[in-house]
Amino acid sequence: MILIMLGAPGTGKGTVAGILSKKLGIPQVSTGDIFRKNISEKTELGKLAESYISKGALVPDDVTVKLVEDRLNQEDAQAGVILDGFPRTTAQAEALDKILENINKKVDMTINLTTPEEEIIERIVNRRICPKCKSVYNLVLNPTKKEGICDKCGAELTARADDNEETIKSRLETYFEQTSPLVNYYEEKGKLFSATVSKTINKMGVDVANDVLKKLEGE
Ligand code: ADP
Ligand code: ZN
Repeated sequence: MILIMLGAPGTGKGTVAGILSKKLGIPQVSTGDIFRKNISEKTELGKLAESYISKGALVPDDVTVKLVEDRLNQEDAQAGVILDGFPRTTAQAEALDKILENINKKVDMTINLTTPEEEIIERIVNRRICPKCKSVYNLVLNPTKKEGICDKCGAELTARADDNEETIKSRLETYFEQTSPLVNYYEEKGKLFSATVSKTINKMGVDVANDVLKKLEGE
């Protein structure tokens, strides 16, 4: 099964993908996480990716597509994956269709998350991550029991380098220019499932993941 998480930064793609990954028993493939791991390990890919990520721009398509293609060929991806943060451009979506066609697979569902813009910024500036176990928290919406310490593994939390107000603005612009056309791309293919994640309607990641599971069972 191939699922795609689509949505602006800070809409909860990673949270929903993580829940779906556990329930469905297929890996979550987050291009952002792969880039961040390479940045912390100071690899060549990491150096290249950082120069784009720090500006709120996208890493070039050829690099990103190759990365995902290699990941899809790995053993644990054979039963399916949840793509979290890929594709992000029309060229990436077209490349993905070709890759999947070659291995006799197809996109089963694209989950499109939307969140009001003012809430997005609030969520991103208050986001904290655990560098060790990758858990994601929010100072306001999902705080840890002990301030600054990961509930799950006890490591000290950090903020992502690109989670500052200036970079967030560029990331949102990048999303609207380059990624939002994919909503139509998948809608036309009849593959789209849209959901709003917002505290104002009390709908958070867990509820959305459950809606997706119901929808997948119904088909
Ligand atoms: P968010 O959705 O909060 O922006 P991600 O972890 O998905 O966080 O992405 C972080 C950054 O990594 C993006 O701003 C972009 O620079 C880069 N990136 C992630 N996925 C892709 C992709 N599919 N294509 C190009 N760049 C990407
Ligand atoms: Zn942790």
